[in-house]
Amino acid sequence: MAVLQQIVFIITLGVAVFLIRKRILRIRSTIQLGKQTEISGDKMARLQNLILVAFGQRKMFKKFIPAFLHFFIYVGFLVINLEVLEFVLDGVAGTHRLFAPYLSEFYNVLMNLFEFLAVAVLLACIFFLLRRNVLKLARFWSAEMTQWPRLDANLILFIEIVLMTAILTMNATDQILQTRDAHYVNTGTLFFSAYLIPLFQNFSTPALMVVERLAWWFHIVGILGFAIYVTYSKHLHIFLAFPNTYFAKLEPKGHINNMPVVTREVKSMLGLESVTTPAGEPGRFGAKDINDLSWTNLMAAYSCTECGRCTAECPANLTGKTLSPRKIMMDTRDRLEEVGKSLAVGGAGLNDGKTLLNDYITKEEINACTSCNACVEACPVMINPLEIILELRRYVAMEESGSPAQWNSMFQNIETSFAPWKFSAADRFNWAKEQ
Ligand code: SF4
Ligand code: SF4
Repeated sequence: MAVLQQIVFIITLGVAVFLIRKRILRIRSTIQLGKQTEISGDKMARLQNLILVAFGQRKMFKKFIPAFLHFFIYVGFLVINLEVLEFVLDGVAGTHRLFAPYLSEFYNVLMNLFEFLAVAVLLACIFFLLRRNVLKLARFWSAEMTQWPRLDANLILFIEIVLMTAILTMNATDQILQTRDAHYVNTGTLFFSAYLIPLFQNFSTPALMVVERLAWWFHIVGILGFAIYVTYSKHLHIFLAFPNTYFAKLEPKGHINNMPVVTREVKSMLGLESVTTPAGEPGRFGAKDINDLSWTNLMAAYSCTECGRCTAECPANLTGKTLSPRKIMMDTRDRLEEVGKSLAVGGAGLNDGKTLLNDYITKEEINACTSCNACVEACPVMINPLEIILELRRYVAMEESGSPAQWNSMFQNIETSFAPWKFSAADRFNWAKEQ
């Protein structure tokens, strides 16, 4: 029986690793559809962002209670993985609590720490479920939060509750078995699961063994299933938040990326530089589809947690416009997924007749943006929806001349008068003259 369990476990693990690897490669190849971009700035500053914003969750702490609870889920995720390592090794080797003899007294401390985190995660998830579904926090119910994103968020919270319950059930039944069967490793008292012991105390020993094993299998298969599911879900941020903060822009928020190709064009018109378009230069101004965006923009789309903090701060959204920076990121990811899936089966990929602009994001949305950067400031994982909006707007303005009429006259004024107004450049300081 033990050998059969080992074989089933190894096959399950192998299938999970295969599926996760396949999915990671798919995500990597879709991110690589993006353009190369120069990663400038101090590496230490990037590292600081990684440590403070991703590991330290600094930006989350602007709202203390949810940040505090989220922190428990996050630490629980990181630390409980140590226990998962023991589960995996036990499963492969056919052992039970493999680390216990090596860690002796410390094993009990570690198990109690895991249990504390399991309870904290459980309570935090219940709080978040209530906040979403009973208190109905507005940012979780806005237009782009259609059925799937809402279900995705709820599913993750529900799965975490079930997984934590499985750990506590396994430990409770295991503690009773330790008193009845010498084969069970003595873990010492496990504080939290001890409260569940009365529920199982009257079970026969074989029944307890079945419950303990079921809880063990449920937890580890649940974790493996969760790991696969996460790669399809907004919860991918638990991995991608780290590179995303590392590669986030370091320039001041108001800094807007120049277009080197335009700068060169202007310099050549002024006779300051000869026109030599470097190899690989994009044939398009701005972005119409995902391959016109940078790979960091695409990675950001996969890193978005759909928390809606950006949209909750967006003045355009708050004043009833259709723009939502969260939707910009969700649409970018949806388009990425669509193209990636198509490419994987030899389909049309980017040439499927659709584009990010128009089929996913409308001109009305991008034109509503005030470029205020409130969304960038609000994002807990340093995503920059504004960069994508500006690239799409550049495409509309420069390739389609499709900006609103008022904007076009402003562009014309800038070209002729070097200012948005219809004054001569020589008159621009008239306002300062004494009357
Ligand atoms: S930059 Fe644009 S999208 Fe972002 S908050 Fe401001 S108006 Fe909204
Ligand atoms: S872009 Fe950032 S703030 Fe906006 S929903 Fe995604 S993670 Fe949240």
